Amino acid sequence: MFEMVIGLEVHIQLNTKTKIFCACPTSFGEAPNTNVCPVCLALPGALPVLNVEAVKKAISFGHAVNATVHKKSIFNRKNYFYPDLPKGYQISQFEIPIVENGELYIDFKDGSSKRIGITRAHLEEDAGKNMHEGEESRVDLNRAGTPLLEIVSDPDIRSAEEAVLYLKKLHAIVRYLDISDANMQEGSFRCDVNISIRPKGDEKLYTRVEIKNMNSFRFIQKAIEYEFERQCDAWEDGVYDEEVFQETRLFDTQTGETRSMRGKEDSAEYRYFPDPDLLPVILTDEMIEEGSRIPELPDQKKERLMQEHGIKAYDAAVITASADTAHYFEAMIAEGVSARNAVTWLTVELQGRLSGGTTVADSPVGAVQLAAIVRRIEDGSISGKAAKEVLDHLMAHPDKAVDAVIEELGLKQVSDEGALLGMIDEILAANADKVEEYRNGKDKLFGFFVGQVMKASKGTANPGVVNKLLKEKLSS
Ligand SMILES: [Zn+2]
Repeated sequence: MFEMVIGLEVHIQLNTKTKIFCACPTSFGEAPNTNVCPVCLALPGALPVLNVEAVKKAISFGHAVNATVHKKSIFNRKNYFYPDLPKGYQISQFEIPIVENGELYIDFKDGSSKRIGITRAHLEEDAGKNMHEGEESRVDLNRAGTPLLEIVSDPDIRSAEEAVLYLKKLHAIVRYLDISDANMQEGSFRCDVNISIRPKGDEKLYTRVEIKNMNSFRFIQKAIEYEFERQCDAWEDGVYDEEVFQETRLFDTQTGETRSMRGKEDSAEYRYFPDPDLLPVILTDEMIEEGSRIPELPDQKKERLMQEHGIKAYDAAVITASADTAHYFEAMIAEGVSARNAVTWLTVELQGRLSGGTTVADSPVGAVQLAAIVRRIEDGSISGKAAKEVLDHLMAHPDKAVDAVIEELGLKQVSDEGALLGMIDEILAANADKVEEYRNGKDKLFGFFVGQVMKASKGTANPGVVNKLLKEKLSS
């Protein structure tokens, strides 16, 4: 009887070489406070200079989500204090973000899709990092000034499933565009969830609660489910007004609960004003034109794969869900194997063998090698079953060549009719009684003869050729 109303704010770190307002590198994992300079340390008198590469990446994103890219946008100071924010304010965009009014589509398993509006995407700087260990707290400012694109969705999302589908699609788009590495473990793709509930059919928006800073699809799903229950319970128990109020909560991954972190400020409390150190951002026509030249995106690639290769919508969605999988698939096709086999061997056999978060990009067996295995099935050199053994072997010994492994494991299929006929003759001679029964109408004995040949050949006989030869022999 209640529905959830969810809007998502996603912060992605743009993969520029240097920070958004200074020339410090953005590399991850350096010794603390080594990627810093007077600008990102906020020393008196230091002045920010906008990194044009961050702007270009924001423009590409705007095009990718069919949004308005504003020719003029401005940077504001968002004032608040935090130990990892040495200036005492964050440079962000407020009244005029660079990107506004976009959309993306999420795809359900049944083939339907749904539009999710994108309210805005704006550029801002990341803060540093506080680290708390025992009695000590330290601040690392390497991350301070890393360019962020904050992408805010409309409150169009109605379930945890939709939220995760939206995030996965957004993640894929960002990776296809190559504007961020979107590495969730390293925090370059993180999400705040705004969630409220309302009785189904009610159009009003009720109090929303923010769950902050999550970087795992699974935890985001759990946090949403927990928070929905909490708000519904409060409503049903008649304590909604006391227990659900505008605040920021954190998801505790240990307990699976959300807990209060702090009251959420209204934007007025940040005292936004245009940053006097930065001029308005004016985009030239050339920049907008350059930014509109974006690579093929997941939805387009999905359509194209379906049309060009006749693969099913669901398979196409699985393959295009990540840029890595899509590139792997296309590399296999380029090797000349059939699309149908490429789908199976990539999404079932290979991905089924990758464990613990390993993606196809890190797979020991590359696309060219996997295609070589498939080619050996297609030309009748090995059976599908033998091919699985070859793949198993290559996963452990990726440096070997496919044909060498087939040879080494003795898996080469015997298709040579002369060799097979010899075997067949022997088997028929040894089973004369069964041959008689077969000829008298006991058809199902055919399987027995095939089995005997496969056994005699230790599984290497080509079943198609065996079938054909046996039929000829038994009917003669
Ligand atoms: Zn710096």
